[in-house]
Amino acid sequence: TSFGFKEVNEEEKSQLVGNVFTKVASNYDIMNDLMSGGLHRLWKDRLVSKLSPFPGMKHLDVAGGTGDVAFRILETINSVNRRAIEDTLEDDLQRETQIYVCDINPNMLDVGKKRAQQRGLGDQGSLIWVEGDAEKLNFEDDSMDGYTIAFGIRNVTHIEKVLAEAYRILKKGGRFLCLELSHVEAPVFKQLYDYYSFSVIPVVGELVAGDRDSYQYLVESVRRFPPQEVFASMIADAGFQKVEYENLVGGVVAIHSGVKF
Ligand code: SAM
Repeated sequence: TSFGFKEVNEEEKSQLVGNVFTKVASNYDIMNDLMSGGLHRLWKDRLVSKLSPFPGMKHLDVAGGTGDVAFRILETINSVNRRAIEDTLEDDLQRETQIYVCDINPNMLDVGKKRAQQRGLGDQGSLIWVEGDAEKLNFEDDSMDGYTIAFGIRNVTHIEKVLAEAYRILKKGGRFLCLELSHVEAPVFKQLYDYYSFSVIPVVGELVAGDRDSYQYLVESVRRFPPQEVFASMIADAGFQKVEYENLVGGVVAIHSGVKF
């Protein structure tokens, strides 16, 4: 490409993604805030509000990294509990809630576990950290009420395999939700956004994380990811119904969703 980034084959891609997240794990949270101007927090809030988490649910957050999405789900459930339910019942319900955080990179999970302790969510027993590959999940068929993947599907080798696995492990009526950087169409905004992505982000990556290449890779991976409509049809092809998407900030990110019937 014109950005000096060479095309990579599948094996190289997996390895590269592994390296990227091993390198960025410790800087990951601060870089998210810097690169999105803090907006990723609102986008994740939106994802979780669309999920409508409920006490006692069994949920899987894939590519869960440092736990951002899982924490929001659990905090939403805890706040519902506190408002609506007697103390004794609350304990029972909280024990049943199971939120699995699955990530291929143990460094990200380690950072996540520490953050869970800091947020006071570590001792509740509802968060379960699992090392694993989105393309080949270690969970049973029809076992989850919900599935989320935030800023994760863009980096996998086979999107179709990830979608098939999401479909397999969800119960009937279970919801699939995906938050991902996507494609901006509006002309002037697109030019600004391209400039920001290709010129600003790699420099910030270099200055803050000392790692220009990893951030250059992340930017390239956004450009290669299928546009909203194409991704929506891939989700439908995996078997999901009621497939829809919502663009946020003109398509900088999109939330795709579907239901397994
Ligand atoms: N969901 C988190 C968030 O929104 O902050 C983390 C997103 S981070 C950009 C992408 C994560 O995907 C990394 O933690 C990486 O290790 C993980 N990942 C990459 N490929 C994966 C795969 N095949 N299976 C599971 N996780 C994967």
